[in-house]
Amino acid sequence: MNASLEQTLLSAIRTIPDYPKPGILFRDITTLLGDARAFRRAIDELVHPYAGLKVDKIAGIEARGFILGGAIAHQLSAGFIPIRKKGKLPHDTVRVAYSLEYGLDEMEMHRDAVKPGEKVILVDDLIATGGTAEGAVKLLTQMGADILAACFVIDLPDLGGRKKLEALGVTVRTLVSFEGH
Ligand code: AMP
Repeated sequence: MNASLEQTLLSAIRTIPDYPKPGILFRDITTLLGDARAFRRAIDELVHPYAGLKVDKIAGIEARGFILGGAIAHQLSAGFIPIRKKGKLPHDTVRVAYSLEYGLDEMEMHRDAVKPGEKVILVDDLIATGGTAEGAVKLLTQMGADILAACFVIDLPDLGGRKKLEALGVTVRTLVSFEGH
């Protein structure tokens, strides 16, 4: 990625100290989404390696992964799979527990959302510890998806999420990174 694109994206992301808790630097992408050029360039950069490949589905993690994933799905002429917090999806689901900073939560996907062998790209706004994305990878793998990559706008490398996904054999793509957490 060229330096000017990196700069465009970095300057479009707003950092909010001590949100949602003291000590956390919240990387807010609503400012990037609200900036037409930055939003378009982020999506273009994320889809770039997959243009011309046959991608069946984009799986987005609630909620910011829905916004990015919807745009990516449109661009690649792929379907979209919502991965949601438990209890939100109306049909038969598969569920997995995933680790949060303190404790566990559960996420779900419709059982018929992906067919064995379908090529899927997983999308979220940010990877930190990788617990959330790891849960989504487990759901998709359990249903037989072929995960081409997991894509994020932001990497927090010090928290180790990228390494966690790579250890599961998943290719990780991120656009910008911030030190610390
Ligand atoms: P993790 O499971 O630790 O990789 O956390 C990733 C999920 O939590 C993503 O859905 C992010 O949107 C959110 N998240 C974690 N840390 C931050 C942060 N510093 N700023 C914004 N979102 C975050």
